Amino acid sequence: MLASYLKQTQELFGDELYLNKSNSSQEKNKNAKSDLDIFCEEICECQKCALGATRNKFVFGGGDPQANLMLVGEAPGAEEDRLGEPFVGRAGKLLDKILTAINRGRAKDVYICNVLKCRPPNNRDPLASEVEQCEPYLLKQIEIMRPKLIVALGRVAGTTLLKVDQPLKGMRGKLHDYFGTPLIVTYHPAALLRNSNFKAATWEDFKWIRSILDS
Ligand code: SF4
Repeated sequence: MLASYLKQTQELFGDELYLNKSNSSQEKNKNAKSDLDIFCEEICECQKCALGATRNKFVFGGGDPQANLMLVGEAPGAEEDRLGEPFVGRAGKLLDKILTAINRGRAKDVYICNVLKCRPPNNRDPLASEVEQCEPYLLKQIEIMRPKLIVALGRVAGTTLLKVDQPLKGMRGKLHDYFGTPLIVTYHPAALLRNSNFKAATWEDFKWIRSILDS
């Protein structure tokens, strides 16, 4: 997968390879907004996998380009595909409330995106081949932004990024490593809408997330 990222980066940017040298907030990319915009323009017509033909809108991601916190879901859903924005609809609104509770938001130290930039039909799980094609784009976003912490939202996002086959509870509560950036897995906000019993555990996770970001 790293080889795929490097190959794709080389295709996109020639011989100048962009490697993640540091996650230090002091060394954040001051031009992250324009670099993200440029990168989005470069890939928004992507047809590398079959989802390019069935999407309505490409969903690159959104939020604060200088954010220390990057939230990553698995793929756009129906509303995201319609609007071209990540995490909209009821789940998105709940996520916004959770972020407000830790004194953050999409305009303030949070960036939200997905592993896949196009919606899988009927919201099925991403195929391994689709992840193989699309994950290098996420790695490039991370390379531009250098977040302090990545939070995978939901079991599918967690297993997809960590390349493990585990239930969510097996991944929760641990500080993982995603190509050099610390990563935590927590519940997807849609899961909280289905089962409010998950809210207490999610709040514990977000208190932990806040403490890491504030440290
Ligand atoms: S899902 Fe990713 S790789 Fe597939 S067409 Fe969309 S942007 Fe390209």
